[in-house]
Amino acid sequence: MRNFSEFHKPSTLAEASDLLMRKDPKTAVLSGGTWLIGEATREIEAVVDIAGLGLDKITVLGNLIRIGAMVTLQSLVEDPLFGQHGSHAGLSLIGTAAHAAAALSVRNSATIGGTLAIADCVSPLVTALLACNAEVVIYGLRPINSSRDTDVFQVLPLSGFLSYGRSLLAQGALITEIRVARPSDDTRSAFERIGRTPRDYPIVCVAAQYAIKAGIVGNMRLAVGGAGATPVRLTRFEFGVEKKYLNEFIDAELTAATDLLTPTENFLGSADYRRAMARVLARRAVMSIA
Ligand SMILES: Cc1cc2nc3c(=O)[nH]c(=O)nc-3n(C[C@H](O)[C@H](O)[C@H](O)COP(=O)(O)OP(=O)(O)OC[C@H]3O[C@@H](n4cnc5c(N)ncnc54)[C@H](O)[C@@H]3O)c2cc1C
Repeated sequence: MRNFSEFHKPSTLAEASDLLMRKDPKTAVLSGGTWLIGEATREIEAVVDIAGLGLDKITVLGNLIRIGAMVTLQSLVEDPLFGQHGSHAGLSLIGTAAHAAAALSVRNSATIGGTLAIADCVSPLVTALLACNAEVVIYGLRPINSSRDTDVFQVLPLSGFLSYGRSLLAQGALITEIRVARPSDDTRSAFERIGRTPRDYPIVCVAAQYAIKAGIVGNMRLAVGGAGATPVRLTRFEFGVEKKYLNEFIDAELTAATDLLTPTENFLGSADYRRAMARVLARRAVMSIA
């Protein structure tokens, strides 16, 4: 941020939005700052610190869990609901994935909003949130002629956010919260990953969430990170095993679903390696729940 010249700390969303919509100077949201301060391009001249907007809470409203964009990764690790040893086995994959995303010093500052805004291809937390069918709430981009005082929130499914939501952020929109529905009490979850070392950032990771009764699967959700441009749901597998005896179909359905993946190759792994690891980790995650 060599051209940094303005710092703002608004106290309302509307004020933050007005600052972010400006074309000049080039303005960015400042959340935990772990990525922005070290990695952002030098074009950024102004930052809008959103710490004063009250977005740092996790609230439960009936079956809806609302995670503020400023909730840190470490808060997710320690949360009584999402934590690795949390009270709901269907949601503990969120704390486990947040733990896998970065070292403690980064997790203490990095936020869930910043993680979604970056959402790299293997992001463990984004992969886990996909398996939880999460939604992303975005603020800003008022329609032309709407009142300046009108709050404009949009709720996007996470998969939709990954395909086009980030273009909304580039226009000045702001992530305010992430929503997750509380799964049924018999729902379980699992998160599996592979990296160069057990503590390294994953090369491929998999998150699964579903319920199983007498061997029959319900509400299967399976997501893979590191095997495409962004983490993706294996919807072909999900439909293939739904309301069926898992053991009879798992291998054929996993092979068919992972064959559809189109991973990008790099020095950490070829496309074939990533597809094969997606299959191995997905089987491990699904069977650990069964
Ligand atoms: C050197 C280094 C490298 C890293 N590399 C990776 C990596 O490759 N992949 C990865 O997943 N994590 C990486 N991380 C961890 C990363 O910092 C965190 O995972 C997290 O993505 C950033 O969260 P933050 O709150 O610090 O975001 P910030 O650094 O504050 O912001 C990150 C980006 O997101 C935007 N943004 C932040 N919050 C919002 C919001 N609420 N609404 C709209 N836009 C917002 C910012 O404008 C900025 O462009 C890295 C960390 C470090 C220190």
